[in-house]
Amino acid sequence: RHAGPEVTDRPSPAPSTASRPAAGRDEDPVRSWIDSANTPETHFPLRNLPCGSFSTGGGPRRCGVAIGDSVLDVSGLTRDGLPGADARRFAAGTWNAHMAEGPEAWATLRARLTEALADGAPGQDRIARHLVPMSEARLHLPFDVAGYTDFYAGRHHAFNVGSMFRDPTNALPPNWLSIPIGYNGRAPSVVVSGTSVRRPWGQLRPEGADLPIFAPCRRFDFELELGAVVGQPSHGMVSVETADAMIFGYVLLNDWSARDIQAWEYQPLGPFQAKATATTISPWIVPKAALEPFRVPVPPRERALLPYLAETRPGLYDIRLEARLAPAGGAATTITRTNHREMYYSAAQQLCHHTTSGCPMNVGDLLGSGTISGPTRDSRGSMLELSWGGTEPLTLDTGELRSFLEDGDTLTLTGWAEGEGYRIGFGECSGRVLPAHPDPVGAGR
Ligand code: CA
Repeated sequence: RHAGPEVTDRPSPAPSTASRPAAGRDEDPVRSWIDSANTPETHFPLRNLPCGSFSTGGGPRRCGVAIGDSVLDVSGLTRDGLPGADARRFAAGTWNAHMAEGPEAWATLRARLTEALADGAPGQDRIARHLVPMSEARLHLPFDVAGYTDFYAGRHHAFNVGSMFRDPTNALPPNWLSIPIGYNGRAPSVVVSGTSVRRPWGQLRPEGADLPIFAPCRRFDFELELGAVVGQPSHGMVSVETADAMIFGYVLLNDWSARDIQAWEYQPLGPFQAKATATTISPWIVPKAALEPFRVPVPPRERALLPYLAETRPGLYDIRLEARLAPAGGAATTITRTNHREMYYSAAQQLCHHTTSGCPMNVGDLLGSGTISGPTRDSRGSMLELSWGGTEPLTLDTGELRSFLEDGDTLTLTGWAEGEGYRIGFGECSGRVLPAHPDPVGAGR
């Protein structure tokens, strides 16, 4: 099994079908008979096949994969008959049951779907009956989130935050270069892109005051992250290699953060209510297999890691990431451009570390990478960093200034890996900030 108590257990070979030709055919394996999947700009070419959950017209949720400007209804197609795929795994309209089947089933489904959608595939009429225009699909959370853990594994982010709140000459906490630091978040707070997020109330201590007040958050923020979706369980410590084999795929993730609530509450046990309002993820899980060609190594270690955390293969990905901010009724400004390769720890290292205590991991666990900031000012992954704690407000293209998010602002993340003439994209991860509830106590009665 993938998750034995030994750190020496070996995973199955990682499924990689990204460059595997459709079996027994001469046609170009990367071209689809769906034309919109063949443009260089689309996020959803045949080589991607990200996994989502959708419905149409108030109907039941179905599993789907994005292909060009369409969604292929995997629940319907497998019910209709797809060799090697068990339709019962897709009946619930979420991907948990398929993830639980394990890496071999992931690779098999991916190969069968690739064959069915490749140029020259037989039976196109039958498959076309299961295509839904993306514009008609309502997208839901692609999986039932079993648990949510958020990390703090970006070197630049940790350095920036440490410089602001502690001391630039001693910015990193003493444990940072040894431990992928994390905290246990709340699974029910994870929402799908498009869900509005209400500004939270909380305890915050105004500048210069000794005591806190209870008030709407004044420093509401986003965090640009990548989320790893755990597709296999563990019941003891696993190696970095096994942890990597347990990961099904990745999503964009915005960890909404109330900075003023966080500043008052975070010592000594870390963030609590500051991070519990909502975490938004993209509707599409990009399979790990689709990202294989884009693996890059973690940066050089500034302090040797303990041996259990050593990387055995490149664990990061060359994924371009952007955030756009649009004020109510206004055009969006791209406020940051960064890349997943800026991380210090990989998701596999984080997942391995998470299991060291014996903490069981479940199918559907979500791991936030931590804010992905780059080394330059225009590559910072949060308003806190972009405005340097509010001291250097950003000027949007509309002329408005922003230190933190205002009511009515829409924050959208996007990302893609850039191949030769194609992209492996994540789509968008978007949410609008609603005003704080006028009477939060009354609202709960
Ligand atoms: Ca975070």
